[in-house]
Amino acid sequence: MPTLTITEASCADDYDPNSMPVAKARAFIHQFLSPVTGVLRVPVRSALGRVLAEDLLTPFDVPSHRNSAMDGWAVRATDLAAEGESNLREVGASFAGKPFSGAMGRGECVRIMTGGVVPEGADTVVMQERAKANGKAVAIASGAKLGQNVREAGEDMKAGSVALKRGRIVRPAELGLVASLGIGEVAVYRPLRVAFFSTGDELKSVGTALGEGEIYDSNRYTIHGMLTRLGCEVLDMGVVRDDPELLERAFETAASNADVVITSGGVSVGEADFVKSMLGKLGEVVFWKIAMKPGRPLAYGRISGAHFFGLPGNPVSVMVTFYQFVRDALLVLMGAHPVEAAPTFGATCTSRLKKAPGRTEFQRGILGRAPDGTLTVRPTGEQGSGILKSMSEANCFIILGDATGNVEAGTRVEVQLLEGIV
Ligand code: AMP
Ligand code: MG
Repeated sequence: MPTLTITEASCADDYDPNSMPVAKARAFIHQFLSPVTGVLRVPVRSALGRVLAEDLLTPFDVPSHRNSAMDGWAVRATDLAAEGESNLREVGASFAGKPFSGAMGRGECVRIMTGGVVPEGADTVVMQERAKANGKAVAIASGAKLGQNVREAGEDMKAGSVALKRGRIVRPAELGLVASLGIGEVAVYRPLRVAFFSTGDELKSVGTALGEGEIYDSNRYTIHGMLTRLGCEVLDMGVVRDDPELLERAFETAASNADVVITSGGVSVGEADFVKSMLGKLGEVVFWKIAMKPGRPLAYGRISGAHFFGLPGNPVSVMVTFYQFVRDALLVLMGAHPVEAAPTFGATCTSRLKKAPGRTEFQRGILGRAPDGTLTVRPTGEQGSGILKSMSEANCFIILGDATGNVEAGTRVEVQLLEGIV
């Protein structure tokens, strides 16, 4: 644990005494994060989405033998004339998995297929499009370079080298890579256990009738989805009323059953006070007004050894604060290394955006292409922090930095994709 205690986290900032810049809050949280220590050995396929807890070494050279990158003929470069065709005699064939067993002499060639072992005596593969065969007589066009189309043993990875580092998140490519090394089981970090609940007297769970002024609890569903996508083990604790005793009990249960506790609602100015005093008894928690929109109020701290993220109640704010603060933090706790924020890139905004300087805004956008191929982005429409449809329609965030004011149509803005392809 760092020496800095959570209570030293000040809301003070050069800009506005009540406003914590996004990057500062993120950096503050990160000093308290260290990965889970539990490790499991699992069959390769079950490692999908988990984090490797060991360096995986290559047990042999990859590829393990010199082989052809093309269908064609294996030849000796010195047998080929500098100009015109060279006539060689085919003495056998080397297919993938069925090598040529003899040795190849001067003036000879071997029919070879992609992946076939390059025979002794051959040093070059001429692709079939550059040769004409007439029975065993093969006429090879000039222009082949020594070593062409030959994949050397160990060219991809040398025996004993690190194929995959500890901390790597296993994706389909890693499953294949591990299998290509003949490794059937890998060590991964145990899943992170995350308990969460919603707070608010107005909230009803799906399946019950709504009374006057009541709404359905949607945050528990988005949080469930976001956590499950990350590969966390989730513990959904339902809705907890705005009642200090019930809340205290819920926090205690959550913290003693999980590595991380996430709540939504109850951290805004009007509601935070009793949550604050209660959490003061159970642990150390800071409440911030982050200089961002949506998602201004946010709490972070430790409760009985568990990490605590108190997210705002508004449905869009929950998702934005999760993606901008909680996601990266959970990845670190899951053992992932390095953890980088989802990348951002530039796009031309096709409409005017209203924006006040002094805070970072995460507007919801839809990426497209102008007729000339330029990447464009437009907002999803109304950007209220309660309009969950704006998240559903969006495929990216439009990130407008602290210093930015209104954005005119045609301006380049930073965007961040919500979905990746793997
Ligand atoms: P709060 O942060 O508790 O003041 O809530 C801010 C707004 O978000 C209020 O309009 C709440 O009704 C709404 N809200 C809070 N929690 C949820 C939830 N779990 N699902 C849907 N809306 C919520
Ligand atoms: Mg509330």
